[in-house]
Amino acid sequence: MVPVLNCQACGGLTSAARFRYVCERLTCDHCGAENPQTRVCAVQTRDIFVRFITAGGCSVQAMDLNLDRPLGPRVPVTSPEVLRRLLTYLGANREALCEYDRSHRSHGKGNVRITLEPGRKNLLRLTQ
Ligand SMILES: [Zn+2]
Repeated sequence: MVPVLNCQACGGLTSAARFRYVCERLTCDHCGAENPQTRVCAVQTRDIFVRFITAGGCSVQAMDLNLDRPLGPRVPVTSPEVLRRLLTYLGANREALCEYDRSHRSHGKGNVRITLEPGRKNLLRLTQ
């Protein structure tokens, strides 16, 4: 469980790492609206694997933690650099990014485990 701001104006979620205090009030990362402290709640985070290919056309696909069930379609990505930024955006930590760099360089594909950051766009098109 992690604390998030559940914005009363737009309904967007902002994780604790990104919301800002302005005069004791919290600012939504999505719309900039100020919210009272009472709009902070705890949400369950989710871990997934991201299966990626960087050799000969980049793409990503969300996989379950056993790596045997896709959680969404294969999504094309422009370049390995964009793919890395995508992983960072979704919540990949430094360890996951190191694993990405290593697999990308040596195999042109791989899997990295990430804890999905709450309130991000569903760029992996998770269907469940
Ligand atoms: Zn908002």
